[in-house]
Amino acid sequence: MLKTQTTDEDIVWACQYCGVLNTVWIDLTIGGKQDFIEDCRICCRPNRIIITNDEDNKVFIEARPCDE
Ligand SMILES: [Zn+2]
Repeated sequence: MLKTQTTDEDIVWACQYCGVLNTVWIDLTIGGKQDFIEDCRICCRPNRIIITNDEDNKVFIEARPCDE
């Protein structure tokens, strides 16, 4: 079976309020910086998710409390 290059994937982020791990699907074909709000599946508080790509296409995921 051939492995195809993925252009999208599920990323994991930790809730900044209760610490639980959440997953969110992102489209990596967009490229550049993505910055959006996701609600935690457990405590329902909004977290700000920031996704950045470097020149080697490494993906960095950062979660921040929304009220900071
Ligand atoms: Zn939470």
